[in-house]
Amino acid sequence: MRGILHPLPVAEKCLLTAGFAIGSWNLTNRQNTMVNTQYDYIVIGGGSGGIASARRAASYGARTLLIEAGRLGGTCVNVGCVPKKVMWNAGHLNEGISLAREYGFEIGEVHFSWPLLKQKRDAYIERLNGIYDQNLDRSGVDLIEAYATFAGPDTVEAAGQLYRARHILIATGGHPWVPGVPGADLGISSDGFFELEDIPARTLVVGAGYIATELAGVLNSLGSEVTMLLRKFQLLRTFDESLSSTVMQAMTEAGVDIQTCIQLSGLTRNSDGSIAASQQDGDHCGHFDCVIWAIGRLPNTASLGLDQVGIETDKAGFIPVDDFQNTVIKGVHAVGDVTGSAQLTPVAIAAGRCLADRLFDGKKDAKVDYRLIPTVVFSHPPIATVGLTEQQAVDQYGAADLTIYNSQFTNMLYAVSEFKSPTRMKLICQGENEKVVGCHIIGEGADEMLQGFAVAMKMGATKADFDHTIAIHPTAAEELVTMT
Ligand code: FAD
Ligand code: NDP
Repeated sequence: MRGILHPLPVAEKCLLTAGFAIGSWNLTNRQNTMVNTQYDYIVIGGGSGGIASARRAASYGARTLLIEAGRLGGTCVNVGCVPKKVMWNAGHLNEGISLAREYGFEIGEVHFSWPLLKQKRDAYIERLNGIYDQNLDRSGVDLIEAYATFAGPDTVEAAGQLYRARHILIATGGHPWVPGVPGADLGISSDGFFELEDIPARTLVVGAGYIATELAGVLNSLGSEVTMLLRKFQLLRTFDESLSSTVMQAMTEAGVDIQTCIQLSGLTRNSDGSIAASQQDGDHCGHFDCVIWAIGRLPNTASLGLDQVGIETDKAGFIPVDDFQNTVIKGVHAVGDVTGSAQLTPVAIAAGRCLADRLFDGKKDAKVDYRLIPTVVFSHPPIATVGLTEQQAVDQYGAADLTIYNSQFTNMLYAVSEFKSPTRMKLICQGENEKVVGCHIIGEGADEMLQGFAVAMKMGATKADFDHTIAIHPTAAEELVTMT
């Protein structure tokens, strides 16, 4: 039986302080049943990795408890992938409306209501929270809505109660990093972005990674005047150069003011209430209604009581694990963002499920292959990439062992329009048989294009395999099987 266990309500806390030993209460049916405190598996964190692992473990008959301090679904569902994609869709639709005019549609003045979109987006997420709850219930996973801390290597404390298990999973994810510079709290993070009640007229986005690129693109496409401050010279610096240079140019042409090599020293309030950014050289920059910090994320490990277990984090707070998601302490495991590797929802899910397969279904070799992870940046236009960048391939194999195929063209979507969004593709092939070790795409539809090619690469496809596949015409994707 499953019980939703909440932190003890005030009345019950009073009973406890008055000396009544009531244990915890099952608030679902309000019966005074003592809760189960011994489990096979305790999962701390009900986000992508934790939920996936808990449900998989329960499907094998493991007595499983999941403890979540916030909203079910974690970062992805509440303040990440899902609301972000809704916002990206809105920006994409707005671009489509402009394009539709060029296709002969007469469209009058367009009004966009951010508050209406936010209301519908939030309602959608609430429905998802409920679905996650029901799915846990159906899977037979017990749920406690409380903050969990370690009380020992096999013991967790939550809502005033100790719980024990043979295996404990840390899947606590991370949170946005806000720097300690003066006035930093005048800005918001990606979490704050999803709370904005209306679109800011002028936005400053600080950062150069996934979140900075995506949020700047969304805001620009929906009508905010967007400035980006990069401390270095390029957006998405770790991506293949073809992608970062193309997205930077496309965003600049779309109206985003991208300022590079700026060392920010803090934020100050202007006399008109707007926010200015101060630079280390003493310069001040702009009048912004909203400043968004998007400079990376930190793991949720500081208050977990890891010292009770004997787990040391790395300098940034991430939990080191081996290939099988084991920490240095027997029976304590970690998956997802809290481990610091490939901070993506499908990776956390895969790691959580593999771990459950290994611990509770006897699949002793089950582990995630962290090579060839496909990923998309929902920029404008979107980026899709898998495998080695050209630079990484050169470093790994040497330039002489590589054949690089490049293509740059205009998607037929823009055949009749003045505005042309770029498409660029690159295949990196290695060795005599030209094994495809890198595939990089930017352009309309790239986000939906890559998944199948990633399967082919995972199977070891060569350029000849790509070329022997009949093209689908007329599409942009066909270019990937016809490159010379
Ligand atoms: P989380 O999903 O963060 O879950 C951790 C959970 O643990 C949280 O619910 C938290 O409340 C809970 N918790 C923490 N400490 C405790 C505790 N002590 N006790 C109890 N509960 C606790 N990835 C993609 O693949 N595609 C995308 O498009 C994408 N977009 C993103 C957009 C944004 C703006 C952000 C911020 C992230 C995005 N990501 C995306 C990354 C993705 O959200 C994360 O990689 C994923 O959510 C990680 O899952 P997780 O299970 O490791 O952690
Ligand atoms: P990222 O690691 O992607 O990017 C952060 C960037 O900010 C760094 O690359 C760095 O770029 C820059 N930066 C770091 N410190 C500073 C500083 N002090 N001042 C100015 N700039 C700084 O982190 P994000 O927060 O964007 O995203 C976190 C993770 O979440 C991502 O790595 C990704 O795994 C995941 N995510 C995935 C998405 C998706 O799948 N579509 C979308 C959003 C997030 P530089 O060194 O060039 O200055």
